[in-house]
Amino acid sequence: MGKLAESLGVVPASKPCRVASILNELDSEDRDALVAGCNKVRQVPAHQRSSHRYPYTEMWLIRALRTQGFTLSKDSMSRHIRGECGCEFA
Ligand SMILES: [Zn+2]
Repeated sequence: MGKLAESLGVVPASKPCRVASILNELDSEDRDALVAGCNKVRQVPAHQRSSHRYPYTEMWLIRALRTQGFTLSKDSMSRHIRGECGCEFA
């Protein structure tokens, strides 16, 4: 095991956003629909979605994408929804 200082000296590789990579594979109609879907989820803050029975959630997007053969984790989707992924679509 090396020293912590060595480990922290390595610049972290930026992980590409999974949602962005999916968006890049879609045609323009589906891309617009997914961007609109993300905005729909963002309209209500996460902590209010369950208490208001808001139907548009990260899982709603993930399930729809799964039917089209795209898999991604809830973490990846949440990061994108919160704009923490740093991708151009967030
Ligand atoms: Zn993103």
